[in-house]
Amino acid sequence: MAERLKEILNILRRQEYITVAELSERLGVAEATLHNDLNQLAEAGQVLRTHDGAQIADKRLRQEHPDEQLLAALVNLSRELGREERQFAILGEGNTSAMGSNGTFWVKASGSQLGNITAKDFCRVSLSAVENMLASEQLTDAEINAGLRATLVDSRQPQPSVETFLHALCLTEGEAAWVGHTHIVSVNQILCSHQGADPFLRPLFPDGVVVCGPAPAVVPYVDPGLPLALAVRQALREYKSRYQRPPKLLLMINHGPVALGQTADEVLNIMLMADKWAKILQGTYALGGPNFLTPEDVERIDSRMDEHYRRRRLVGQA
Ligand SMILES: [Zn+2]
Repeated sequence: MAERLKEILNILRRQEYITVAELSERLGVAEATLHNDLNQLAEAGQVLRTHDGAQIADKRLRQEHPDEQLLAALVNLSRELGREERQFAILGEGNTSAMGSNGTFWVKASGSQLGNITAKDFCRVSLSAVENMLASEQLTDAEINAGLRATLVDSRQPQPSVETFLHALCLTEGEAAWVGHTHIVSVNQILCSHQGADPFLRPLFPDGVVVCGPAPAVVPYVDPGLPLALAVRQALREYKSRYQRPPKLLLMINHGPVALGQTADEVLNIMLMADKWAKILQGTYALGGPNFLTPEDVERIDSRMDEHYRRRRLVGQA
C-alpha cells in the first residue's frame, strides 16, 4: 500500500499531470482503489486532485522546465560546487544530477571537472534502464561499462559516471529532484578520521538542523560504483523507516557527502552548511569538544520547520 503511494508520487514527479485511467493502466490497479490512494495523498497535502486525475502539490517537484533550462541550472550548480576556493572538489572529483522529463535524468559524464564543466559534459540517461541494472546487483566491470552506455538516451553523449547508480537512488528512494556529491576537505577531515561520521550524528547548531535535517544518513566505506549504490540504497531505506522522510545529507565514510535537494539552490545550501558544520566541529575539538544540542532542542527546531514547510506546501509555495 505505502509502496503504491510512493510509486504514484514518483510518477507524478516526472510528469505534470496524470489521469486515474492512465495510472490504472500503468500500475495494473483498479480505478476505485487509485481514487482512494489519490484522496489519501491529497489529504496529506502531497497531490492536488483534478476532475479526472491528480498533479503533484509541490510546484518545485513538477517538471516544468524544458531540459535545456534544467541542464543550464545543473551546469551552474556544478560550477558553484566546483569553485576552487570552496575546496569541495578538485580534478574529476564529485558529480551532480537532476531529474529530467519523461523518466530520464541528467548526470555528470565520467572524467569531467565540476569547476569548469559545460553542458557537453553531462549526459541524459533512462531512469528505468539504470534501475534495471541496479536490480541485477552483481555485474562485472565490463557489464557495467556496456550497461551504462546503453542507458544513454542519445548514444552520441559521453559515458555516464559510475556514480550514476548512486544518483538514480537519490532521485528515487531519496526522493530528491537535484543531487550534488563532492569530496569536501572539511567534511572529509572528519569522515576520514577514526571518528568517522559520529561527530555529525548529534546536531550542533539550529541552522544545521534547518538546512541539513535532524541527522544525516551514513554509508560505510565500500567500493565506488554498484557496491556503493547498494549500500546507499540500504542507508536510505533505514533512514526513511526511522525518520519517516528521506535525508537531506548523506555522509559516505572515507569518501564524502551527498546533498539531496528539491532545487539546485537547496543542494548548494546543504553542501555549504555541511562545510560550515564540519569546520565548527573541528574548532570545538580544539576547545574541549562539541557541546551538542539536546534531543529536545532538535525536536523543537525540527518540528517547527516541518510545520512551516507543510503549511507552505499546502498553499503551493514550498
Ligand atoms: Zn565521490
